Amino acid sequence: MARSRNSTSTRRGHILIQQDICKGCGLCISVCPQQVIGFSDTLNEKGYYPAEFIDPVDADAPNPCTGCAFCAIICPDVAIEVYRG
Ligand code: SF4
Ligand code: SF4
Repeated sequence: MARSRNSTSTRRGHILIQQDICKGCGLCISVCPQQVIGFSDTLNEKGYYPAEFIDPVDADAPNPCTGCAFCAIICPDVAIEVYRG
């Protein structure tokens, strides 16, 4: 079934990173098969450049995050929550 371009139903998964917990180790970035995690250019309260989710620039573009949760599983500080659907 065709999906509306304005619908958020194209989003398969997304993550929330608690940036004040993140220590910027980069493990989540290294395991993400879709390469949708990068480093923020803003320091967090701990003095690290935390990881951040890279949302598509075009809000109508399909989100490449699959919700696989590799990032959350590998995070040593449990700073990532994964949402599907
Ligand atoms: S859930 Fe999977 S695809 Fe989505 S950001 Fe994490 S590792 Fe990448
Ligand atoms: S694995 Fe966790 S602590 Fe390391 S950069 Fe990613 S969110 Fe931050």
